[in-house]
This record gives sequence, C-alpha cells and structure tokens, in this order.
Amino acid sequence: MSNWDELADRVLDGHAVTREEALAVAEASDDELLGVLQGAFKVRKAHHGRDVRIHVLQNAKSGVCPEDCKFCSQSMKFNTDVEQYGMQRVEELVQGAKEAYDRGAVTYCMVTATRGPVPDEIDIICEAAQKIKEEYPLDLCASLGLLKEGQAERLAEAGIDRYNHNLETSEEHFENVVTTHDWGDRVETVKRAKSAGMEACCGGIVGLDESKNDWVELAMALREIGVESVPVNFLNAREGTPLEDAKSLSPSECLKALAMFRFVHPEADVRIAGGREAVLGQMQPLALYAANSFFTEGYLTTGGQGDSKDYTMLKQAGFEPVIVDDGPERDTAESEATSPCGATRAASGAAE
Ligand code: SF4
Repeated sequence: MSNWDELADRVLDGHAVTREEALAVAEASDDELLGVLQGAFKVRKAHHGRDVRIHVLQNAKSGVCPEDCKFCSQSMKFNTDVEQYGMQRVEELVQGAKEAYDRGAVTYCMVTATRGPVPDEIDIICEAAQKIKEEYPLDLCASLGLLKEGQAERLAEAGIDRYNHNLETSEEHFENVVTTHDWGDRVETVKRAKSAGMEACCGGIVGLDESKNDWVELAMALREIGVESVPVNFLNAREGTPLEDAKSLSPSECLKALAMFRFVHPEADVRIAGGREAVLGQMQPLALYAANSFFTEGYLTTGGQGDSKDYTMLKQAGFEPVIVDDGPERDTAESEATSPCGATRAASGAAE
C-alpha cells in the first residue's frame, strides 16, 4: 500500500483502519515517510487543526516502585541513579500545578512510581486536585498505578479529569517486559477509570525489542477499550535497567509509529511522550504532523530541551499551542522574548 492520502480520506469517512493497514503504515519504507506523515496529518488536521496541547508532568513519588518494568529507572529492582523520595505534600503538588499553568500547559499530570496508591496517597492527590481546580483552569491527570475498587470514583469526584495507565506494549510482548503484574491488570484499571467517569490516557512505549506487529496490537487494544488519549513513549534506555542495551529505534521508525497510532485513533489526543528529544532529535517537528500534544519541561526522570525551545519549535513549524485564558495572570519569570507564555501569547495574537 502506498496511497496514504486515500487511506486518510477513508478514515475521515469513518473507516476503522485494519490490522493490515496499520502494519503497512508501521512498515512503510523511509522513502514513503513524508507520504505517511502527510496522510496522518490530514487526519490530525481534521480533528485537531494545527493545535498543540501542552502537558506537564509532576513526579509526585519517585524511584521507589516495587514493580519490574524492564525499561523503568524507577523500579527498586534495578540499580539506577534515579532520585528517590516518598509522596510529595499537597502544597508541592499545587505549586507544580502553578508552574505548569505559568508555562502555558493545558494539562497537569501527577504521577507516582508505585504498583498502586495506598489510601493516604489517594487522600493527598484528591486534596491537591480540589485545591488546583479552585485556582487554575487546568485539566488534571493522575497516574498512580493499578487502582482498587472505589479509588477511581474518589479521584473522579475530586476533579481528576483523566487517569493515565499505559498498557505499554502488546499483550503478547508484555510478559517479556514485566513479570510483577499482568497486562490484564492494566486493562482492568483503565476500564475502572473510564467507568468512574474519567477519560482514559493510555498508550505505551516503543523500543522494547518488540515487533511492529506489537505496535499494531497495542493500538488495536487501545481502540477496543476506547481510550481518549494515547501517549506514545520512545525508549530512552536508562543505565542500570535490563533494557539499557536495547537497540535504539531510528527517528523515522518513531515517526511511523506515531502516524500509525494517529490512523488507528483519528480523534484521540495522540501525544509525543517520553524520549522525544533523545530519540527524534532534529526530526521532532515532524512528529507534530501526526501527534497533537506533547510534554514540555522534561519527563519523570529525565530532562527535556526546555519549554522555551519547545514553544519556538512548534511555532516555527506553524502549529498553535492551545492556551487556557480564563485563569489568573501567569507569572513569567523569563523575558517575553523567550518565555513560553510570551511565545504563547504572541502565537495567539494576544501579545500586545
Ligand atoms: S509500575 Fe510504573 S513506576 Fe513501577 S516500574 Fe513499572 S513503569 Fe516504573
């Protein structure tokens, strides 16, 4: 198959991409990369225009996870140099939300490295969510691991809009990556979050020594669940983890992965997630033709290129950051010329 434009038209007419079509996108030759991205962009543009939604992560509990996901530097089972600390206080989480808002984020995501939240952690996240919602017009996301009965409802009632829990990879490949819990456990938590009324933010990570077929199986599983948000991480191999020597994916492979997720999830919030700078390098702007959102200011345990460069990049590529304007005045410590909010206001025509 090589008529990606025609595939895009069919998707926009309501066609659900088949496994074979998705695999053809993932396996397209590098000569077809721009054609694939053009098709993905047609779908992206129909649902999201040239908008880019900026998300900011808060690592609310770091480096003390008992699980054994082989890519993760926050597992206590591996010898990594990641910072370790327990659950942050409500004030720290609210301060993180303020900083995210000041940076022009639309979504603030509080993340804990854990198998699942204990009651005290749910209390802290709920109290923080209520306080943040009183002050800032941010969408709130929580990523706290596997949820037990009743926990999703509490989070939803407190104002958490989305729950993140990634399936990471296909069901078949999952046991090669994680042994301390099952893929099905993850699916159950995502379904719990949806049943409680939260949107599901659920994606995965590519570069785990999986096949392209595993990408397709993951994308199809996410479609079956009906997730609203699909973060696509690219393995940025961390020293001390079992996958530290995993073969790196090329930027073009990662772009085709993003395009495939876009074709399978035409309306979803498809996000360029962890590993963006490390893996895509100079090709980062091309990812915006398939994805409509990304994280700024780094990830849970690794830094990014900085929000100023991020906003400059998306503006230079002709995209528009989505900005929430109905909150308090933003506190911009940097100059208007370089601060993300300066860039944002200029982009939205409100700089003057
Ligand atoms: S459950 Fe999350 S924090 Fe824990 S090891 Fe797996 S990916 Fe890392």
